[in-house]
Amino acid sequence: MSFAPRSPDDRFVLVTEVGTRDGFQSEKAFIPTEIKAELINALIDAGVQSFEVTSFVSPRAVPQMADASQVMALIQRRPGLRLAGLVPNARGAERAAAAKVDMMACFVSASETHTQANLNKSIDAALADFAEMAPIAKQYGIPLRGAVATAFGCPFEGEVPLDNVLKIVGAYLEGGARHITLADTTGMATPPVVSRVVEATRSRFPDAIIALHFHNTRGIGLANVMNGLELGIREYESSFAGLGGCPFAPGATGNICTEDLVYLLHECGYETGIDLDALATVARRAQDVVGRALPGQYMKAGPRLKRSSLESVRRAVG
Ligand code: ZN
Repeated sequence: MSFAPRSPDDRFVLVTEVGTRDGFQSEKAFIPTEIKAELINALIDAGVQSFEVTSFVSPRAVPQMADASQVMALIQRRPGLRLAGLVPNARGAERAAAAKVDMMACFVSASETHTQANLNKSIDAALADFAEMAPIAKQYGIPLRGAVATAFGCPFEGEVPLDNVLKIVGAYLEGGARHITLADTTGMATPPVVSRVVEATRSRFPDAIIALHFHNTRGIGLANVMNGLELGIREYESSFAGLGGCPFAPGATGNICTEDLVYLLHECGYETGIDLDALATVARRAQDVVGRALPGQYMKAGPRLKRSSLESVRRAVG
């Protein structure tokens, strides 16, 4: 089974929880700071070790993330925990450093049109912003993660040029980032596309530590993870309860769901350090917080070998 661990030392997969950033960012109603922190602390208690907690964007641009520093201050830190913050520019980098993030995550879209629509600037201008913030991260000794948004397709352009992906990854590595996230921002990845982009990135930049960020917009997010496992990728980004959305596909589901991902990983023989049922409890709490059902499946169905009583089953008649 090529998706299984390759050796006894190859059992750990790092799950990076992005629900409180990527997920909450698309929630219209402001989620109170204390509730954000309560959910993150509960996820930490469930064993989640890596987060993209929040975003140090302009509070005017994204009001939901205006409490980034306050949320960071309410998180119960513990050894081994990695709290990343999304940082769009030098100003955000200073705020993130003051909030004591463990990692600064920046992003540039591989699609020129998407970058224009999203940030109102070109890819080169976005890379110039990165070049300004990278020395700030270095000055504070904070590791950098570079994300390539729309790495697997763009809702405006269709296929994105692989050369754009490689150019951005090259700029990140040159600026001191070792961690690279290839992000399927609008859910356009399929297993063959994932293979093409990951293999091209890895062959050009063998030292990059690659993570994959999938959305389940078209229902094949976990199929893409299976392909990532075959390719040897050992870090995935996901949202608890499947929080999140897609601005270009109203009503579409969001990020791949953390509980469903962890369930898949454990069934395939990987370890995540996460207590799946504790995680599912936090995911159900997320539904209460946003006031609607969320797409996560494991939190509804429970463990595979959960026994139901015969009496509880309605029998088919006829
Ligand atoms: Zn995303």
